[in-house]
Amino acid sequence: MAWQTCELQKPVLSIQALTSLGKFCKPETVKLSTAFRLATRNGSRRLLHSRVAQQISDGSIDNTALTTLASLLQKLSVDACHGSPEDSLRDGQWVKLICGASFEDVAEVRNLSLVYTLAGVDCIDCAANPAIVAAVGEGISAAKHVVDYLEIDFEQCFRKPWIMVSINDDEDPHFRKAEFDARFCPPNCSRPCERVCPASAIHFTADGTVSALPYKKSTYGDANVYTSPLVGGVITERCYGCGRCIPVCPVRNIGAKNYVRSTEAIIELLRGGEVQAIEIHTGAGHFEAFESLWKRLETALQSLKLIAVSLPDLGDCMTSSLSSMYAIMQPSLRCPNLWQLDGRPMSGDIGKGATMAAVSLAARVASSSNRPPGYLQLAGGTNFYTLAALERAGLFKSLDKRDEVYTTEALVAGIAFGGYARKIVHDCFSTLEKTGPALQLESYPSLLLEAVRQAASLVGPIKSFKFGSRGQIR
Ligand code: SF4
Ligand code: SF4
Repeated sequence: MAWQTCELQKPVLSIQALTSLGKFCKPETVKLSTAFRLATRNGSRRLLHSRVAQQISDGSIDNTALTTLASLLQKLSVDACHGSPEDSLRDGQWVKLICGASFEDVAEVRNLSLVYTLAGVDCIDCAANPAIVAAVGEGISAAKHVVDYLEIDFEQCFRKPWIMVSINDDEDPHFRKAEFDARFCPPNCSRPCERVCPASAIHFTADGTVSALPYKKSTYGDANVYTSPLVGGVITERCYGCGRCIPVCPVRNIGAKNYVRSTEAIIELLRGGEVQAIEIHTGAGHFEAFESLWKRLETALQSLKLIAVSLPDLGDCMTSSLSSMYAIMQPSLRCPNLWQLDGRPMSGDIGKGATMAAVSLAARVASSSNRPPGYLQLAGGTNFYTLAALERAGLFKSLDKRDEVYTTEALVAGIAFGGYARKIVHDCFSTLEKTGPALQLESYPSLLLEAVRQAASLVGPIKSFKFGSRGQIR
């Protein structure tokens, strides 16, 4: 699917329409945030009240899900909603949700933001696309309305997470989209691409017809003789560039297109005031590109609360690379900085083993005495097993073993969860899609309850880590 440009002529008054629009527009060309706010400022609250009230009155739902949700939120609030996101960084209890630097499904981003705000994350990291930033804001507002609707202690149960946008200084796997032309797919292909995609971003319909046979070579691979009744391909806004579909294609029909976000669009987004943090993805040998991007953005970064730099494992060059980048940033750095250690990029949903790369990278960087200032946060392979692995490595809290007391600074400030965080709520989101036309998860309290339960199982253990009188976990 090719990007198309579009102009928004007038406010669009339904979230469904906004979602469709978001699907087919090139991110930098869409100025949706104002319209999105107009359309949804009070929409989610009204919808929650009316749909839930109707479900209760027609007997299709009892109050159990709502009551259970209220008590779950009260339980979570004890640990998750105290202090600011900056306190969490300092205390080593920072949790970030990664929606995906390239993930641009407006409705799903909105519901992810709702669920993980209720679960108590400190920050929501999303694509630097105005429509997506607006969707995150809408999800956070919806969380506020849920707490309000349940009439539980608002101040205790709700805390607004920071919104972070991810950008890149050069080519980076987080900023690419897979693509292929289904006309080159062999008719008998078992479609491993569809099965391997963690984002359900590949979709075929079998009922299409191909009118003109493409007797030319496929852009990416060997296929030049196949014709197929298959119609479909990559759903661009759902693809987040993990690349898993590429090697499984038997005829090498799948490729990927890289892109770099436009600096002008990023500056405009930052000036909009809805974004509190930014993350720059960089890599080996990117110093010039990093410096150039930093200089172009410098002024727009001044009002932010956190600046993160995301790097993969650069081996022996890791500490010196961090120092070089810090030297570029330091003269104009006006807020705390964070190093996102991207152990095994975009692999958290794969399983237990994926987390080890992130933990061993963190151990190496944390033990380096000449690393530059900045919080350390794990990503890339993070999942349910990461916290236990960090504790085993002695990294989760800076415990002074002699005195059995914790110092105020944590060695590792926190964890960011991406693919795994999305995977554990995927079933709820799929059921929502099949259930009806409403795209707001809070319209279905039992689904919302299940999604928040899943999210809390990931966020809660980090937030509820407590100190006993002699530094014991209790
Ligand atoms: S790159 Fe990853 S997310 Fe994108 S279509 Fe392929 S498998 Fe799916
Ligand atoms: S694996 Fe390759 S050939 Fe098979 S359906 Fe997917 S893109 Fe087409």
